[in-house]
Amino acid sequence: MSKFPDFKIDNQWVTSRRGKKNPVNPFIPYDFFMEKERTGPGVIGDVTTIFLTNRECPFRCLMCDLWKNTTDKPVPEGAIPRQIEYALSRLPETKHLKLYNSGSFFDTRAVPKTDYEKIASLIDHFETVIVESHPQFINRNTLYFNELIKPALHVAIGLETVHPAVLPRLNKRMTLTGFEQAVRFLTSNGMETRTFILLRPPFLSEEEGMLWAKKSIDYAFKIGVGTCTVIPVRSGNGAMDTLAENSYFTPPDIKSLENVIEYGIGLNKGTVFADLWNIENFNSCKKCLEKRKERLSLMNFYQKIYPQVTCLC
Ligand code: SF4
Ligand SMILES: [Zn+2]
Repeated sequence: MSKFPDFKIDNQWVTSRRGKKNPVNPFIPYDFFMEKERTGPGVIGDVTTIFLTNRECPFRCLMCDLWKNTTDKPVPEGAIPRQIEYALSRLPETKHLKLYNSGSFFDTRAVPKTDYEKIASLIDHFETVIVESHPQFINRNTLYFNELIKPALHVAIGLETVHPAVLPRLNKRMTLTGFEQAVRFLTSNGMETRTFILLRPPFLSEEEGMLWAKKSIDYAFKIGVGTCTVIPVRSGNGAMDTLAENSYFTPPDIKSLENVIEYGIGLNKGTVFADLWNIENFNSCKKCLEKRKERLSLMNFYQKIYPQVTCLC
């Protein structure tokens, strides 16, 4: 069997696999919470994360499940500031904020430009704010928003993988050139960049999955990204489940995540985080999972390599 399917992975194929969306309210974020994260060298700080309810992202990436909590139409003007107010009034004050909108913050059909001033006034007490965007939406609006706000703006862009045959098959409609241009644009304008890197995207073996995650970290740091978050690929969005059923995708082992994080931290070129969300569902030994999770949390916080977990698995 070829490594790659003979059918074309495009918007139509990806959306045809999907189930139903969750009911959402355009004036209430679909989730918000505070968590601890490394926020600077030797500093573990409280970070507020708000998952804004927003219109569905115009891209249809193969591995994405963010569409589940989105609206079909753009949310009205004023809805995003209302959601931010809603979450902030229910959470303790922190210095750092993540505003994730299941798409691109600088897509003006997602977050209207007319909302920027109100958003700026709501977040002026933070030290940093992190938003996410596809490279195609990083432009003058980004500069305008950066000028309006008091906190330092960090922008997260999904690199996903530098594998030359896998990246185009993710249907993200992004090239490495486009990614690099966006990173250089942001850094030359004084903004920090973060990126998301997939561990074992479809079509790769466990070994290849680790290797290409490491190559992706190398590439990201080389072009000026400050923080890489490694995300173990999961199924659950329909498309990934179909690929899994046809042996084109297997979720990675938690040991591979540890291996990649060790590598990334060992480079000493920037911050490397493991995404630990839903890690319980990992493809791994249940006896040592908790210990491995703890080890990864410590590595996230302190950016040091902790002793290996011993287990017979
Ligand atoms: S660009 Fe981001 S939010 Fe949009 S479909 Fe792709 S992964 Fe999902
Ligand atoms: Zn084990």
